[in-house]
Amino acid sequence: MEDTESSAWETLASPHGYPTLEADGVSFGFYSAEEMRRLSVKQVTTAVLHDAMNRPVAGGLYDPAFGPTDFNESCVTCGLDYTLCGGHFGHVELLLPTYSHLLFPLAFNLLRATCFECDHFRVSGASLRPIADVMALLDVGLMSDAAALSERRPQNKSSAGGEATHATSSMRSSLSRAARRYLRARAAGDAPSRRLGTCNSPHLISMRKAAYDRFANVLKGGSPACTHCGKVSGQLKVQGNYKLFCVPVSDRAKTKNAKLQRQERAASGTGAGGDTGGHQAETEREAEREAEREAEVE
Ligand SMILES: [Zn+2]
Ligand SMILES: [Zn+2]
Repeated sequence: MEDTESSAWETLASPHGYPTLEADGVSFGFYSAEEMRRLSVKQVTTAVLHDAMNRPVAGGLYDPAFGPTDFNESCVTCGLDYTLCGGHFGHVELLLPTYSHLLFPLAFNLLRATCFECDHFRVSGASLRPIADVMALLDVGLMSDAAALSERRPQNKSSAGGEATHATSSMRSSLSRAARRYLRARAAGDAPSRRLGTCNSPHLISMRKAAYDRFANVLKGGSPACTHCGKVSGQLKVQGNYKLFCVPVSDRAKTKNAKLQRQERAASGTGAGGDTGGHQAETEREAEREAEREAEVE
């Protein structure tokens, strides 16, 4: 709950001073490793289920800490009987980090589009920006604006960064004042985190899915050369939904990467602030230019 907003709402809703709380929404996600450890009542350390007397082995999957396995037992963790104890979580510590098979296709799609030299997506930020804006608008419940923005595609797909940015601001001119204000605040990093009464209606879910599909298509359409650093990354291959291989780049691409690396080093040696500083300054200038254009539109 937000401090100022909820306290104002509470004053209105409870004239007698009763504390009133309202859930803003519910979202589903995956537990982090630390959360899993905190939820777990015991670590599973053996694959053996029963001993020679057919009793559950401690540290096995039928450890009494996870709940009773027989009508006559009560739970050693919560004290309830077989019918009332809902069972308790345990966890297994893996020796090596591993992919979740549920998230593997997503991880593969994201990694496949990532530059291994500079860790950005290889496609330009300008081509992803409209989709990020659509997702942000959906998050705060501005669905008609999100629909208007997703229906309008940038005119000049292959243009340089500046022109593509201009296309984005002209696309934004069709949005409501609230949506433009929200996107500007979000770009400046002070957008309100509160979701304006959004609920995950089937329509919203389908719009979010369409936005994600568009995002995946843009990523898939990227060239092997990165639009940020110009270097070529090796192609990723997948085997059996759990193994990833990186195919080495060709000799020609290797020479090109080495040449770009030398140029970068020379630039960072002579230029003040180095490569990253220069890139940041360029991004800031671009953001300023776009803010000016939007101010003109309004
Ligand atoms: Zn229990
Ligand atoms: Zn790159």
